[in-house]
Amino acid sequence: MKKTMKQLVILAGGKGTRLKDRLHSLPKPLIDISGKPLLLRQIELTKAHGFFDIFITIHYEAQAIKQFCGDGSEWGVTIRYIEEVEPQGTAGAILTQLDQFDETFLIMYGDTMLNVDLDYFWNMHQKNQADATLFLHPNDHPHDSDLVEIEESGRVITFYPYPHSSDRFYPNLVNAALYVIQKNALRPWQYLTGSIDFGKNLFPWMLQNKQYIHGYNSAEYIKDIGTPARLDKVNSDFQSGKIERGSRLTPTPTIFLDRDGTINEEIGYLTKPEQLILIEHAASAIKRFNQNNLRTVVVTNQPVIARGICDVSQLKEIHNKLETELGKEGAYLNAIYYCPHHPDNGFQGERKDLKILCGCRKPAQQLLQRAQLAAPIDMANSWFIGDTSVDMETAHKAGLKSILVRTGFSGCDDKYPARPDFECFNLGDAAHFILDCFPPMMNEARTLTHNIQPGQRVTLGGLARSGKSSWASAMRYALLERHIQTTIISLDGFLKNSDARGKGNVLTRYDLDGIADLLATLDNITESIQVPLYSYNRLQRRRNTQVNTVTITPEHVIIFEGVIALTIEKLRHTASHLFFMNCPEAARKENFRKEYTIRGLSEIEIETLYEERHRDETHIITAHQSHPEIIHIQNSQKVLL
Ligand SMILES: [Zn+2]
Repeated sequence: MKKTMKQLVILAGGKGTRLKDRLHSLPKPLIDISGKPLLLRQIELTKAHGFFDIFITIHYEAQAIKQFCGDGSEWGVTIRYIEEVEPQGTAGAILTQLDQFDETFLIMYGDTMLNVDLDYFWNMHQKNQADATLFLHPNDHPHDSDLVEIEESGRVITFYPYPHSSDRFYPNLVNAALYVIQKNALRPWQYLTGSIDFGKNLFPWMLQNKQYIHGYNSAEYIKDIGTPARLDKVNSDFQSGKIERGSRLTPTPTIFLDRDGTINEEIGYLTKPEQLILIEHAASAIKRFNQNNLRTVVVTNQPVIARGICDVSQLKEIHNKLETELGKEGAYLNAIYYCPHHPDNGFQGERKDLKILCGCRKPAQQLLQRAQLAAPIDMANSWFIGDTSVDMETAHKAGLKSILVRTGFSGCDDKYPARPDFECFNLGDAAHFILDCFPPMMNEARTLTHNIQPGQRVTLGGLARSGKSSWASAMRYALLERHIQTTIISLDGFLKNSDARGKGNVLTRYDLDGIADLLATLDNITESIQVPLYSYNRLQRRRNTQVNTVTITPEHVIIFEGVIALTIEKLRHTASHLFFMNCPEAARKENFRKEYTIRGLSEIEIETLYEERHRDETHIITAHQSHPEIIHIQNSQKVLL
């Protein structure tokens, strides 16, 4: 590789008025970032990516910068200076000195701290044969930022300078002040004088001139240090390791999100921006993910395109509205991937080219793979959140931890059999669960499972809505860390259909013979066997038609979980570990109330049902909690179903 071919210009003439109390007499580019001047950090980064030929434009405190950098030989690079007599905007000095530069060069601002894979950025520019390539990212205040709209291919279509008119919706993509530029593309403006700005003037002119500007939307770290608050943020990001982890090559924990029914209200076919309404707490949840360095990626099936009832530009408008609404609350999405296809053809008005069996329609994996190709993802610490069995199946196939939200379809679409790992009432609860509840829960689950060995059976019982299935999942993940495979068998799959229950108590609500048959097939497994696992459709109050067939080997740990698990003698006697779920009654009742609200019961009906269950369930279940071998789990997590 001919490294010397790559040239860089650092714009370092700025005064840094807003930082004067921090700078004293220093020019802004020499400000200290955790023990080293910012400019040196920039030079070290660019050198690591093969940029050895550096121009620095200087004006304010020019001498101090020259003195500090010299000719660059101390750092193994060549540094030349362009001294501005008067500030000429960000692009002015570049234009007047254009003849000095190579055909392609990188431009960086002297007040940004970054950890960008510049080599990758440069090569992308070359591959696209663009006239200019801009580094873009979403931010948490798009309403007062200059915004950029790009096509799916990355081609920049429009610049929207701040302030924005309120009669349309805008994408959340902001120019982060890092560019690769072709010298020849700037020739038309070479002899202009006065103050000229890249963002405000030159790039819009280039678009008018039909030049090709490419936009690179990336989650890599780049931030300016222009105010004391931003400078402090950059310093704390440096200390916490956020900047180092912010490189493109560091796999990032990611929250994959379904769109309809998870972020915005499920309305059937959403084809117009005005139909998009955010679900309560969705924006604040996404904001929390943003603030906790979790990438947010939407993966959504949009068969409305194949059906011909919404085109790609309308979908873009819908997504602009989504980003605008989220942006108002300081939240942003790092990327949106959608599948425009649909497998069943033969409808009027459809787009025949999109009516295909594709590899991207969830639960197929291509949308997730595209996200992984764009930037490496730490899949082991990533999550998938959605409202349908399609989402749960997608997560399961990808090996992602899954959360079913009880908004939208509430998991009752009965299309795929995958079991969600966790359930939360909405996206807000899901963010709270992932960020606040899950880490301590896993610590406890590791302790609870530390002496469980391959092949052992575990029984977990307790009252309804106390958190059993979530704790079973946490135990499964804790065992997986020890490379022990676990199958969770939920006895809810043996709940009788509502019309077949009759009068009785908690025990008569279950198909006890069915449970006995299953247990018989699991007696003394000597080789791997296939077992059908059933699940219960809570909205329709019947067993789901989709059956999850799982393979169980003699080494598998089996966790039986359910309200009546500990009442079943065989499950008490064959288990090596017995657990009872304790949950404060107020929290359990609140979960009960929320659950039956989703199922459409009125407050009075819920209260009656709660009393009824208290009479026919509580004493039967709690009678089994005092057995000396039973370990009690204290569940204080309110978000768990
Ligand atoms: Zn597709």
